[in-house]
Amino acid sequence: MALLEEPIKEVLKLKNYINGEWVESESEQILDIINPATQKTIATVPMSTGDEVNAAIEAAKEAFPEWRETTPLARVRCLFRLKGLLEENFEELSRIQTQEHGKTIDESRGETRRGIEMVEVATGIPSLMMGYNLEDIATGIDEYVIYQPLGVFCHIAPFNFPFMVPLWFSPFALATGNTFIVKPSPRAPISQVKLTELIDEAGFPPGVYNVVHGEADTVSILLEHPDIKGVTFVGSTKIGKDVVYKKCGETGKRAIVQTSAKNYLVVMPDTNIEATIPALMTSVFGNTGQRCLSGANLVIVGKDDTFYNKLLDAFVDTAFKIKTGYGLDESIQMGPMQSVDGKQRVIEYIEKGIEEGAKLILDGRKPNIIGDYPDTCFLNPTVFEGVTPDMTIGKEEIFGPVASVMRAKDLDEAIRMANSSNFGNAHSIFTTSGKTAREFQYRVEAGNVGINIGIAAPMAFFPFGGTKDSFFGALHGQGRDAVRFFTESKVVIQRWL
Ligand code: NAD
Repeated sequence: MALLEEPIKEVLKLKNYINGEWVESESEQILDIINPATQKTIATVPMSTGDEVNAAIEAAKEAFPEWRETTPLARVRCLFRLKGLLEENFEELSRIQTQEHGKTIDESRGETRRGIEMVEVATGIPSLMMGYNLEDIATGIDEYVIYQPLGVFCHIAPFNFPFMVPLWFSPFALATGNTFIVKPSPRAPISQVKLTELIDEAGFPPGVYNVVHGEADTVSILLEHPDIKGVTFVGSTKIGKDVVYKKCGETGKRAIVQTSAKNYLVVMPDTNIEATIPALMTSVFGNTGQRCLSGANLVIVGKDDTFYNKLLDAFVDTAFKIKTGYGLDESIQMGPMQSVDGKQRVIEYIEKGIEEGAKLILDGRKPNIIGDYPDTCFLNPTVFEGVTPDMTIGKEEIFGPVASVMRAKDLDEAIRMANSSNFGNAHSIFTTSGKTAREFQYRVEAGNVGINIGIAAPMAFFPFGGTKDSFFGALHGQGRDAVRFFTESKVVIQRWL
């Protein structure tokens, strides 16, 4: 099939967006953004200077008093305009994600849709943000609670859902009356820049929304600065826990820190194999395995060898047939890894799996690619059998298209295996028994549970986040939690004289 047209045709020079203006960075540290499928440079991104980051914080601080006094209805009118612009630019935004990240165009379209839904739900803030009251807490005295914005929030983004993840937070922060700074991943910052062009067009006042590029140095300024009231971070446990959450504790900032994962897919012997395989494929190999909801450990339950072999054969056969190539070809089912480093890390895990005694039954290291593309970032689906939860590939996040197949004698053992993980982002069960599903949901340690669903995906109206080493903080960025996170409650007690 022919390739869809690429929206990025020449190398873009990305800028910061500060106080409603596109500002060219004075930094000498510039990174190239490379399309992982074609290996062509499509943009350059600066590692912003300290002055530039401080200017963004100052702009957001200055914009806050007027924005918080703008009525909630007027604030969400900006979001309604943004929603319209996002729909108009839906296809371009999606194709940009495929160019900068490598995911298939359908995966990008799904990401764009989920991002837009966050904006849609946040337009309900005038209702969601209402306080409550009680008459006569003492005779003739009433009490009520109001929710007020705090000031400047920021977001530090990961590379794997470069468009959607910042939108998990910014619409709710802005709608509740805060101002916002986004620091995109330096590995995939382009769709954030395109989104910001639309935010600019939607008419948010200058300084209400800002973007600064960079990495550790930029983050460090954001985390230390007294005018940043709260931080939302999505990325690895290593950075999230040891750098971001720790620093937010020291500096007294609110924090939502969503981190790494190692998710289990538990398949019970009463499962309909045919109906389950597509969900397992998407879960393990979707987004080329670079997903915090990816079901990396597949546990086949029961002592019945016939069921085990039938499921494993169907799984491996279907994985083997996955078409790998450039995601702008609509027939492609899996794109490349986002980076050379990411691919290298996966290869090291595969080697470790072999070394520790797991059986490699599908090896994707010498990829078969559809189309004439360099194999620099490509891998094909890989499957290991005989993995145990204590093996490196059974317990660490690989973040690539690798399935670790395990076996458990019964549900109890499968749940114990899943709960032995340090992570607790999302575990799923496949079964036709309601009782089994209920027991799994009740006992499994994860923030998200899938029942006959391979990816317990975040929806804008429900809180999303894991537990254990997958999440740090108390509240989540979406749904009702978002209102609580982005506001502080103030109680007023009134005596009527
Ligand atoms: P990462 O931790 O490498 O980077 C995340 C952000 O931190 C980036 O913006 C990066 O520039 C910044 N950063 C990097 N080094 C830093 C340092 N030393 N100090 C301060 N900031 C630094 O993560 P990534 O590779 O971009 O994303 C993949 C990870 O994100 C995976 O572990 C994945 O599971 C996780 N993730 C989690 C969720 C979730 O909801 N739990 C969602 C998406 C991704």
